[in-house]
Amino acid sequence: MPAAKSLFIVIVGCGRLGSYLANRLSRQGHHVVVVDANPDAFDGLSAEYSGFRVECDASEFAVLNQATIVQAYMLIVTTNNENINVMVGQVARKLLNVPRVVVRIEEPDRRRIYEQLGLDIVCPASLVGDEILQSMVQQALITTENGRTR
Ligand code: AMP
Repeated sequence: MPAAKSLFIVIVGCGRLGSYLANRLSRQGHHVVVVDANPDAFDGLSAEYSGFRVECDASEFAVLNQATIVQAYMLIVTTNNENINVMVGQVARKLLNVPRVVVRIEEPDRRRIYEQLGLDIVCPASLVGDEILQSMVQQALITTENGRTR
């Protein structure tokens, strides 16, 4: 379905998370570029994906230009390497002035430091943990009479 307003979005890392986002955003009508060092990663893109693919290591500065990050409204960095993600995110935010930069991290404790750098942080471990605590544990408490069944 075409988006009422479409954005130019670059996604670095086309693994499970990156390809999921690329497929969804492309289907919504956004202009998407995906970057990954491993060409096999692009197999995760659906037949309907209509964006560009850039096969390259994101740690090389030239790749950022190749993916025309400088023109992007949003950069989403989702490789499985937190250091690379933060480094790429900082270059995009501070040097290339990309308005919105979302970075995947692995270590929840580092969130605050990275947020102070102007990055939007997503930590899958925190999201999954919050989901378990909020929906499943809370639900278990509600469905028991005194909060303890055994
Ligand atoms: P996943 O953990 O399934 O979301 O996959 C992470 C993706 O990040 C994989 O497809 C990797 O090939 C990719 N990746 C890891 N390091 C880099 C890098 N330096 N440049 C580009 N892609 C990378």
